[in-house]
Amino acid sequence: MNIIKSDIVIHNLKAEKLKNILKEKFGHSDFRLHQKMIIESVIEGRDVLGVMPTGGGKSVCYQLPALYFEGISIIISPLISLMRDQVTQLSENGIPACYLNSELSWNEKEIIEEKICDGEVKIVYVSPEGVLSNYLLDFFKGLNISLIAIDEAHCVSQWGHEFRKDYIRLGELKDYFPDVPFLALTATADSRTRNDIVTQLKFKSDHEKFVSSFDRSNITYTITDRVNELKQLDEFIKANHSGQTGIVYCLSRKKVEKITKDLQKLGHNAHAYHAGLSSSVKAKAQDLFNTEECVIIVATIAFGMGINRPDVRFVAHLDLPKSIESYYQETGRAGRDGIESSAWMIYGFQDVIKLSQMLEMTEASETYKKSARSKLDSMLTLCETTNCRRNYLLSYFEEEAQQACGNCDVCLYPVDKVDALENAQKILSCIYRTGQIFGANYLIEVLRGSKNSKVLERRHDQLSVHGIGSDKPKTYWNRLLRQLLSSGYIAIKNWEYRNLCLTAKSSEILKGEKNLYIRNKKDNDSNKNKKRNKLAEVNHGRGDLFEELRSLRKSLSSDKGVPPYIIFSDKSLHDMCQLLPRDKSEFLMVNGVGQRKCEQYSKDFLQIIRSHS
Ligand code: ADP
Ligand code: ZN
Repeated sequence: MNIIKSDIVIHNLKAEKLKNILKEKFGHSDFRLHQKMIIESVIEGRDVLGVMPTGGGKSVCYQLPALYFEGISIIISPLISLMRDQVTQLSENGIPACYLNSELSWNEKEIIEEKICDGEVKIVYVSPEGVLSNYLLDFFKGLNISLIAIDEAHCVSQWGHEFRKDYIRLGELKDYFPDVPFLALTATADSRTRNDIVTQLKFKSDHEKFVSSFDRSNITYTITDRVNELKQLDEFIKANHSGQTGIVYCLSRKKVEKITKDLQKLGHNAHAYHAGLSSSVKAKAQDLFNTEECVIIVATIAFGMGINRPDVRFVAHLDLPKSIESYYQETGRAGRDGIESSAWMIYGFQDVIKLSQMLEMTEASETYKKSARSKLDSMLTLCETTNCRRNYLLSYFEEEAQQACGNCDVCLYPVDKVDALENAQKILSCIYRTGQIFGANYLIEVLRGSKNSKVLERRHDQLSVHGIGSDKPKTYWNRLLRQLLSSGYIAIKNWEYRNLCLTAKSSEILKGEKNLYIRNKKDNDSNKNKKRNKLAEVNHGRGDLFEELRSLRKSLSSDKGVPPYIIFSDKSLHDMCQLLPRDKSEFLMVNGVGQRKCEQYSKDFLQIIRSHS
């Protein structure tokens, strides 16, 4: 009995100590779900796998135990830019951290190693290949290592979508440090990948796994039909995110450059980023992205790994990603700070064709193609669904569907489902009667009764299907074709010419055995999520104060040569507007204000806040 009692006392003492460090060093007053459980397991010495969505707060899970433990914690991270960013962020909070990587000169390395040996550093970031070099292994073996954390841990698994060769050997570390707890963290890992991580990293049998929900509740998902993409994008940004930061993803480099120029002409602060640009141009774009308050990066998917900026307010896709994994990862770069943000995508029939074509024309094995096809199909289902988008995303990641989310375009603006069976029969007949050798555009011309020279030459104006679809616009037929294709009622026959043909399933439609509904198009799609996105500012209603705080943050960040979000996140600034702190002790209550930041910045910020209250 007594033993149990004293266990509880010790547990409470530990919990209190952890909470104190959380407030004092990081400025957060409470743990998020799973942060606490992960941290408690780690400090009890267990190996832990934590799966948390982007923005879920993974860093604290290893940074806090690192401060709690007496010795040094090693953090394995794949990207130099991320290491640098984290170290700057930690230093701002008064936490001694450093990185050891190939960027440093011998001289710099020596100085840092000396500091580590003298116990002046708590957290050391290293790359996966670096940590297993004989030199560093010997160095670390001579130290008191308390924790080894592995960030982006899904990279150890071949099942994950970003397997990295450097990660595969990380399991060897367990042989060198058998008594040190390992903490593996990742934002994306299905159950197979999770098991694989545990095996590859040789976790002990009493290890624990904590899997948070994949839900990013602050992201509003919108997927809309392509009509005039530039106009739609411009309207979407101006209506929802003017003066804010975002990323616009395009499939090709050429399109990136074109959209960048077009956006600039429309008055946006847009910059291009893709792998074909010179490294100085890329570095400039990356730098602007880190330092400017309001910037739009138009990019291929080459841009994104290692983004740490928490206040990206929107991610727009002008082309369809090839899988839900990619879509989730790319859209996940929005709103890491938890403030309302948008994932906005535009797509059309040609996207489906283009991606399928790229896939079919690669040299990859049939097994690969099969899996890629099914991933693309799931992506299409997400686009075409007439139910909550978030629920579909969550179920894709093996999470039980919840009730409709209320924060995606389908929930906010329920779609009309209209019966499309008869029109589907028309289009299938048209494909059949013209010989199953034409692409979408031509088929639609015949259906809508065009008398252009090609139609006349082929005498397709004589067919019974000629003109039977003239009551509907081209966009309607495109949408219907898209739906028929994604449900397997038609297929693409020839990848070069993109000809459409019937499938074994087509007869179900032709005989009227199946129901077929189509989403009814609405006007003004691009302004859809206006409602939710304004909320963050409306809450405190002090937009002017927010702007003043933002410009103070900007000037401090320029003086120090660090990104603005390292000084304070938008969330902290909004919190200041909400709480209107009057003195240092009240300033400490603001989210993200720890002891060090309070000392450094309270005077300047309080001065502005006082002038408003
Ligand atoms: P991840 O690495 O999982 O994407 P981060 O560690 O960068 O996420 O944290 C995301 C954001 O959440 C950061 O702005 C961080 O300050 C904030 N955060 C983390 N933990 C907490 C907490 N317990 N309370 C409030 N904010 C938190
Ligand atoms: Zn929804």
